[in-house]
Amino acid sequence: MRALSVPRFLGLRIFACAVGAVAVGVLFSGCATTTRPGEVGVERQQFMLVSAAEVERMSATSYNNQANQARAQGKLISSGPEYDRLRKIANRIIAQAGVFRDDTKRWNWQLTLIDSPALNASCMPGGKITFYSGIIRRLKLTDPEIAAIMGHEVAHALREHGREKVSRAMGQQLLLELALGGKSNSAEQIKFAQQVGNLLITLPNSRENESEADRIGIELSARAGYDPMGAVNVWRKMAAAGGGGTPEFLSTHPSHANRINELTQLQTVVRPLYEAAPKP
Ligand SMILES: [Zn+2]
Repeated sequence: MRALSVPRFLGLRIFACAVGAVAVGVLFSGCATTTRPGEVGVERQQFMLVSAAEVERMSATSYNNQANQARAQGKLISSGPEYDRLRKIANRIIAQAGVFRDDTKRWNWQLTLIDSPALNASCMPGGKITFYSGIIRRLKLTDPEIAAIMGHEVAHALREHGREKVSRAMGQQLLLELALGGKSNSAEQIKFAQQVGNLLITLPNSRENESEADRIGIELSARAGYDPMGAVNVWRKMAAAGGGGTPEFLSTHPSHANRINELTQLQTVVRPLYEAAPKP
């Protein structure tokens, strides 16, 4: 099985590339952009080797595993004032996602709040948001600051940066080793899916992806009625918190002074959206 499976795996991709221009298949979606540019003008073309449905399925599995694990440890917060506050902000941000793409109304959006000191938050492909209580409590986040982080993370999902990361890894043959497993039985298929799911979580975003998430994120939070200065403030707090060590959120989200400058410059673009928006 081993000798057969690798050429088959590669062959599918080569075949898909060859016919990609004619028949945009499941494996090869070619160069396109996942979102409308918005006022902040994100227009970069993206190269995808793996289908959105495949990535969403793996994300959903990883996300559910994470929630189940937190529940088993008594660390899942699913009610109370802290959860309600986060839920309200999430609903307002999610309501603006349609500005950038039409299909978000059909997404199965989910919100998980985990009791943990981690300075972290994320949104996996398909709208699976996770916040750790540590980032809210330790940084004493205001609502606009939570909205800024939420907007940034949701923007990663809208842009399908996770799918891009997996596609890039495949392109660089990092996943070839995994494919060598043969995927010949269900146990191997599950292991393969879990490993790709882990990559979705652990691979760092590129600086370019971070900049896109900052730009779309600040527009989302402004349209949702949250002061866009929250984005500047939150990165100042984050940089200050990073003084002694390296919080996880900073380690996967590089650059600080540049991002604060860019977010400051974006204020003139998004402030009119904020002023026109209904406030929470
Ligand atoms: Zn990010």
